[in-house]
Amino acid sequence: MKTLLAGVVGWPVAHSLSPRLHGYWLAAHNIAGSYVKLPVARQDFAYVVLALQRAGFAGVNVTIPHKEAAFALAGQIDDAARATQAANLLVFQEDGTILARNTDVFGLRSSLENELGITTLKGRHVVIAGAGGAARAAVVALCALEAQRITVLNRSQGRAEALVRTLASSFQVQLATGNFADWPDLAADVALLVNCTSIGLGHEPQFMLDLKLLPATARVCDVVYQRSGTALVRDARQLGLPAIDGLGMLMYQAVPSFAAFFGITPEVSPALRRYLEVDLA
Ligand code: NDP
Repeated sequence: MKTLLAGVVGWPVAHSLSPRLHGYWLAAHNIAGSYVKLPVARQDFAYVVLALQRAGFAGVNVTIPHKEAAFALAGQIDDAARATQAANLLVFQEDGTILARNTDVFGLRSSLENELGITTLKGRHVVIAGAGGAARAAVVALCALEAQRITVLNRSQGRAEALVRTLASSFQVQLATGNFADWPDLAADVALLVNCTSIGLGHEPQFMLDLKLLPATARVCDVVYQRSGTALVRDARQLGLPAIDGLGMLMYQAVPSFAAFFGITPEVSPALRRYLEVDLA
């Protein structure tokens, strides 16, 4: 039987949980497949991707710093990748073309729905902290959930403005930027706060927005994940606010990738979360 091959391309990629995640599903479904870490420097990205395609890989996931390059490389692009101008999944198709997809959007939306019980954000205001790739995916996911107003707060104002310029024309949403000092004026009507900065990974300073200013009905989502949970999630829960970390987003974004590589739609379960938590540094 032919072994199906896939992997994750990044730099660095040593920390990636994706091989463990896909390995769990490969074993659960008894699939003759392999999913490997592929450390690839920025300048080698296009060359290596084309070589993997020729070597018979089914496709690859793409992580920092290659998501924009993956988008640029592909011949076909799905709606989420087009909206975010970044791809985290490249599918090598039978006709030789490469399809770029962004499954972070699906991952965040599924995590909000399944773990935080958010099925719609109609008429609601969401604040996103951060303006990088994860924040772009968050804007698209929140628009799919029909948020009425999204405010993007970021340390570098220019980056937040660039994000809004790219996305504003594609969605029927009030999309605005601000900086962290605006938080006291915004917090009172926020239905959901999403942290898309890398604060919480361990080496950065504490999260800068005072959660006590949120209304009691607010929810909190951190796209960052840590073995013992992130400080943001802990603080939110201490205030009685429902809160989730980024492990859910990670697990759900992998579902369409696994289906594209190995032909089966796998399940996200509490057992899978526990299995991944063991491997978190
Ligand atoms: P980027 O590098 O594109 O963006 C990083 C963001 O964090 C920027 O907005 C940056 O602000 C902000 N930031 C970093 N340090 C600080 C700080 N000390 N104070 C204030 N803001 C800061 O990264 P991504 O958007 O790709 O990823 C962001 C986080 O999301 C990462 O931790 C990543 O691991 C996580 N992630 C999780 C996923 C999941 O599946 N759970 C999927 C994708 C990402 P500035 O613009 O001012 O530099």
